[in-house]
Amino acid sequence: MTLEKKDRIFTNLHGEESTTLKSSMERGDWEGTDQLIKKGSAWIVREIKKSGLRGRGGAGFSTGMKWSFIKNSRKLPSYLIVNADESEPGTCKDRDIIRHEPQKLIEGTLLASVAIGAKVAYIYIRGEFFREEKILQKAIDEAYAAGLLGKDAAKSGYSLDIYLHRGAGAYICGEETALISSLEGGKGFPRLKPPFPTECGLYGCPTIINNVETIAVIPEILRRGGEWFSSLGTINNTGTKIFCVSGHVNNPCNVEEEMGIPLKMLIEKHAGGVRGGWDNLLAVIPGGSSVPLIPKSVCDTVLMNFDSLCSHNSNFGTAAVIVMDKSTDLIKMIARLAKFYMHESCGQCSPCREGTGWIWRMMERMVKGETEEADIDRLEEITYQIEGYTICGLGAAAAWPIQGLIRHFKPLMVERMQNRNKGAA
Ligand code: SF4
Repeated sequence: MTLEKKDRIFTNLHGEESTTLKSSMERGDWEGTDQLIKKGSAWIVREIKKSGLRGRGGAGFSTGMKWSFIKNSRKLPSYLIVNADESEPGTCKDRDIIRHEPQKLIEGTLLASVAIGAKVAYIYIRGEFFREEKILQKAIDEAYAAGLLGKDAAKSGYSLDIYLHRGAGAYICGEETALISSLEGGKGFPRLKPPFPTECGLYGCPTIINNVETIAVIPEILRRGGEWFSSLGTINNTGTKIFCVSGHVNNPCNVEEEMGIPLKMLIEKHAGGVRGGWDNLLAVIPGGSSVPLIPKSVCDTVLMNFDSLCSHNSNFGTAAVIVMDKSTDLIKMIARLAKFYMHESCGQCSPCREGTGWIWRMMERMVKGETEEADIDRLEEITYQIEGYTICGLGAAAAWPIQGLIRHFKPLMVERMQNRNKGAA
């Protein structure tokens, strides 16, 4: 299984060619957009459902299904928000789409807005993406100047305005309700759901929030048809995906591949293999820092899709593959992640506010082997008291890396304690 050149959506992902509107159009962007729009919102939603596209921001929910949840019985305006607050450590795919393929994102924003009846769309971009914001704003300006946005966008009879909004650099603003609050001018605090944003979102109106990659693939799916997209990948995990491979590989990269590519093939074919060879592999975090790691024995055969990784107690997440060879101090690495999640907790709910700090302090002691064996069970128990007992998913994001470490590398943790005790004796 490997993606053929003809099926690639992101043909300028690495920026070999110019990002101007003219060059983007030469690559096929904005081709027949007016005709796609004239087919109507019901057709667009149907095609996207047919494609089997699942959200590329981590949760993997069906995009077409999400769009069909828009409830507008109160006759309020509806909004589209593109989530460009890419903050999950290891993940850098949206950044490259914005840098090198901005017109795909803008065209996709127009088409998705038609699908849900939005006349205004916001792109919420993380504050640290300073250069990317400039690139994207320039691309939006070019699209306006060419009549592709604004009144009678792309001569389709549909009108859309896009506003680019910069966040201030908080991880939690990637969570959709926190993002809405931040966009409205409030603190980036998540809120309880329901009501879901599809019913009560931005300014209390029906709102759809989609990830950058999800939106950027929409135009190509509509041009080639939902069936083409669903013919790629595996059942229930269709299409192509941008994988971000980092860590102990010879050639860290972002690459578009077919969903369900074996992890080993992905690393060896595109990232130049594990440093020191495949047998030097210790573990991989397959979907961004919050998902549980998997040991080499699982990496040997696992497929890179939602279902295969779930069956191994991990997650596909954002498909950000962090590779760790045998030189890695896994306990220290997970302790570092624990510190990150503690720092990013917004503090609203006590299991997350107190628990993330507790986890980090315990992990710091475990790095030095300054704990007892029973503390490992205590630590694990705490993670299960956080997961599922918080307002948003950050609590679970902090718990999963610890659970993965204990599930697969408990003997390593015990060994560290024993070695310290021997040294002290
Ligand atoms: Fe805030 Fe953490 Fe609660 Fe999410 S889980 S609302 S980040 S305290």
